[in-house]
Amino acid sequence: MNFYNENLSRQEALSILDLPDEDLPELLDAVYAVRKKYKGDMVSIHLLTSARSGNCSQNCAYCAQSHDSKADIDKYKLVSHDKLLRDGHVIRDKGLARHCIGLSGIQFSDLEINEFAGEIRKLKKEVQTPICCSIGFLTPEQARKLKEAGVGRINHNLNTSRNFYPKICTTHTYQERIANIKMLQGIGFEICCGGIIGLGEDKPDVVDMFFEIRAIGPQAVPVNFLLPIEGTALSNADTSHLTPEYCLKTLCLARLLNPKSDIRCAAGREVYLKGREKWMFHAVDSIFASGYLTAGGQSIDDTIKIITDAGFRYRVESA
Ligand code: SF4
Repeated sequence: MNFYNENLSRQEALSILDLPDEDLPELLDAVYAVRKKYKGDMVSIHLLTSARSGNCSQNCAYCAQSHDSKADIDKYKLVSHDKLLRDGHVIRDKGLARHCIGLSGIQFSDLEINEFAGEIRKLKKEVQTPICCSIGFLTPEQARKLKEAGVGRINHNLNTSRNFYPKICTTHTYQERIANIKMLQGIGFEICCGGIIGLGEDKPDVVDMFFEIRAIGPQAVPVNFLLPIEGTALSNADTSHLTPEYCLKTLCLARLLNPKSDIRCAAGREVYLKGREKWMFHAVDSIFASGYLTAGGQSIDDTIKIITDAGFRYRVESA
């Protein structure tokens, strides 16, 4: 099969997920050629700060911060400036690519946005690292305020397919997510938009989600693999199909459908891909270090080591 063509059909995309495991090396070789063409041998490392945690009004089934979650997590409004700055300094000192700042919740008052924009301004004064925020649905005015404060990119994931979405969340719609992303693009933000594999979706849902993401044209595509969290609706989700081979195929598909975007292997890589990082980097040019919003992860030094051990370099991205 010719794995890479600019007009990959849904059927061809599905056949990538259905590929026999013994054909995976051939797929990885083809995907590596695409990755090398657009991204060379660089891997960017991102650090995530959970700037507001818990107490969300929404019911996303996978999320420890949701209204329905009984997960035992820290809950707080806005994290202290010291914590944001400490993380900013770690990013600068270690030469990491980007500071990702996640806030729980779907809607924010103007007062809250003003306060947060003030924190971003102070942070940008001291550390010039590019900033990406994950921050629910914004009004255009709120989005402009954050842009003026120095946020260059916003993360807003689609998470799964349009058809499957009502199975994982009923408090807002897929279309609202897309509308928010379009509004942000109109204001000039770069977009980070990805999803979660392992929510109970079928393979055609994975394909549909990646086609929706491709239509958005995001600068970055984070691919998460579900980490079932005790106390959430998906705490007992069956993740037995998330074999290293299947995870690698989904990452390959993300790259083939978004050849120029950053493809980020996000939550779950430490659990599902352990020992296969070398192969992961055939598709992926971006990863997180030091964990995720409500789950731990690999340290920065160990993350750097897996990149260099695999024969890749890690990159400092300038502001
Ligand atoms: S994913 Fe975001 S919107 Fe959904 S419950 Fe979690 S914090 Fe709220």
